[in-house]
Amino acid sequence: MALFEKAPAKINLSLDVLSKREDGLHNVEMIMTTIDLSDRIELSSIGQDTIKISLESRYVPNDERNLAYRAAALFKRTYGINKGVHIKIEKNIPVSAGLGGGSADAAAVLRGLNRLWGMDIPLQELAALGSKLGADISFCVYGNTAIARGFGEKIETLTSPPPCWVVLAKPDIGVSTRTIFERVSLDTIYHPNTNEVIKALYEKDLYKLCANMGNSLEAITGSLHPEVIQIKQAMKSIGATGVMMSGSGPTVFGLVEHENKAKRVYNGIRGFCDEVYLVRLIG
Ligand code: ATP
Repeated sequence: MALFEKAPAKINLSLDVLSKREDGLHNVEMIMTTIDLSDRIELSSIGQDTIKISLESRYVPNDERNLAYRAAALFKRTYGINKGVHIKIEKNIPVSAGLGGGSADAAAVLRGLNRLWGMDIPLQELAALGSKLGADISFCVYGNTAIARGFGEKIETLTSPPPCWVVLAKPDIGVSTRTIFERVSLDTIYHPNTNEVIKALYEKDLYKLCANMGNSLEAITGSLHPEVIQIKQAMKSIGATGVMMSGSGPTVFGLVEHENKAKRVYNGIRGFCDEVYLVRLIG
């Protein structure tokens, strides 16, 4: 038996770093929403009690280091399952991009194994399990639009943003989330107005949303990789309504209300950056 799970990427509509915990992790407040750029996960039962991973990617390991593998191993261990699974990953989300691709895959594996093995485990429990492997996995288990607190594991669902188009531009660099957080200085860090972003969502006001989106990590990643700031400025001047870096970067996204304008921004930004996508919000 085989089944498929979509593993959609996320973008941050806000990312605030609040404080540092004793264990070295940071307390954050992040509003995230889901976009129509997805990996595709196929899960099929196999005879032996093993986890097999197949994927073609220069950037992602296809062994026990893969987050999808680790999610399956954790699921099997937690629920004492002695069955095997073959996980095939079609990787479409850029890697180390700030779009949560690895977390999306891990979350899809948790949801998918729940179905494959007929377990009926509530999403809340899968999200708690996922948080043991990575901060964004809880959000990805639920998808849609939510605010994440704690180190990212406490999820509260929010209403979806007003419909719009998303132009994504990923400069040809990978950014390690850990490296960026290591450079956080809480005395000087910028804090976005998260409450105004939430209000904008509930008022379905794209302009208010764009005016209030903000990311505490943008200046840090931008100082290491100035192309992030250049792409942001270019996207804004070409006509995106709001522009921000997602996660710890380096992907920059622009929100645009109308399709024609979104295509103009998409075509315009291709002159600055090789890897560009035009997608819709599905959160
Ligand atoms: P985050 O902001 O959560 O760090 P990201 O989008 O910046 O996410 P990912 O694409 O999730 O970054 O990749 C981060 C690291 O995880 C990479 O070094 C990659 O090799 C590793 N990794 C492990 N498994 C996967 C997977 N299934 N897909 C993508 N990356 C994976």
